[in-house]
Amino acid sequence: MQHEQNAPAPRPSLPEDTLGDSAALMLDLAASIPGAMFRLSRWAGGQWRFTYVSPGIEPLFGLTPAQVCADIRALGRVILPEDRPQHDATIRAALLAGQAFEQEYRIRTADGVLKWVHARARPQPGGAGEVVWTGLLTDVSDRKQLEAVVRDSEERYRTLFETVAQGVVYQDAAGRITSANPAAQRILGLTLDQMQGRHSVDPRWQAIHEDGSPFPGTEHPAMVALRTGQPVHQVVMGVHAPNRGCTWLLVNATPVLRAGQAQEVYSSFEDITERVLLSQELKRQASTDDLTGVANRRSLMQRLALEFERVRQPGAGHRCAVLAVDLDLFKLINDRHGHAAGDAVLQHAATLMRRVTRQHDLVARSGGEEFTLVLPDTGPDEAAALAERLRASLQAQPLQHQGLALVVTVSVGVSQILPADASLDAVLARADAALYAAKGAGRNQVCLAPAAG
Ligand code: GH3
Ligand code: MG
Ligand code: MG
Repeated sequence: MQHEQNAPAPRPSLPEDTLGDSAALMLDLAASIPGAMFRLSRWAGGQWRFTYVSPGIEPLFGLTPAQVCADIRALGRVILPEDRPQHDATIRAALLAGQAFEQEYRIRTADGVLKWVHARARPQPGGAGEVVWTGLLTDVSDRKQLEAVVRDSEERYRTLFETVAQGVVYQDAAGRITSANPAAQRILGLTLDQMQGRHSVDPRWQAIHEDGSPFPGTEHPAMVALRTGQPVHQVVMGVHAPNRGCTWLLVNATPVLRAGQAQEVYSSFEDITERVLLSQELKRQASTDDLTGVANRRSLMQRLALEFERVRQPGAGHRCAVLAVDLDLFKLINDRHGHAAGDAVLQHAATLMRRVTRQHDLVARSGGEEFTLVLPDTGPDEAAALAERLRASLQAQPLQHQGLALVVTVSVGVSQILPADASLDAVLARADAALYAAKGAGRNQVCLAPAAG
């Protein structure tokens, strides 16, 4: 058995005799590196054993070089039983084939410490059929532990990604989707394949804002986060989901920064379709008259206030007509044909009012059988013409109700919001005065309020 390290190594006397001292230098080096160097020899007869082991073996395995060199099985006994078969098979195969080997296994030292060891060696031919493997054993416990931590945290992250109820989508710096979790696929009604490579600006999203206006792809939270490097919170966005129409999402987007640059962005979102539809329905109900489906008094006043401000804005030149419409002798309908017939007539009148007005006009039921029409961008003549069309259309189209043709006419007072008006009440009072005049003139008439108020 050879114990080269037992020979006291004289310090090399550089530079005169560098080569002669190289063995001592090697031993010195071997003693100072972390881990253990070894030499393993196999002879032609098929026997093998360690012919050199550096002192580093002791802190690593808790065995002296002498113990390891004396007994080829000494190292094996420290290896965990479950790792031993793999270890033995690897060494045996390498020794028989004369090949290099590299492996990792766990050991438990005599004082009970568990370590991960990395072993590797390369063969070189020796003399007389001898093959010599020189190699290194190192303690890789720290790395293994780190790997386990990373694996654990990756596993935890993966579990979260796979099971969380929120949709999560990753996009690259160019805005292309690179991955999406199962919740995202369910919420968006798309498979991962269909999503991968899709861009935020893809027109197939048909994205819209809550008010129905288009949501340009460049303004999507993910794109804003990529552009600004800042997170974007709580954005409501409607997107088109196949076979399902509009799906409403509440979106957060977070950029992933490297060296101050957004390399990637992930968006998390939840499906708030039910919530949005409910709130839209509540809003609609709060602003709509139940019986006729036209705007109620509340939304009439809001709209009038808006138009009032616009007309009074200096230099805006905005015009807006206001029509007070009242059904003539409506009480008679109720009295003669019943309340339900009266209701049907109100609905019929509202329908005709909607028919003669434009998209951006407002038809509102301001009281029992009274309606108010708000006509932006409309001067007195146009307003009077529209009022006349409305009057004529009601007269010409009786409501067919339970076999009866119920004729109902309207009187209309036409007024304008004027920049000089002190209040909305003044405008409404003028429209009412004109309506009153129409009633006084025999009903089924249109009367214009005096221009100056
Ligand atoms: P005028 O031409 O002077 O306006 O006569 P009018 O009969 O239309 O006016 P009046 O104010 O005397 O009567 C209005 C009637 O409208 C009285 C009220 O019972 C009825 N009315 C108000 N709201 C409703 C409703 O929601 N449904 C029904 N069926 N009738 C209503
Ligand atoms: Mg009335
Ligand atoms: Mg009336």
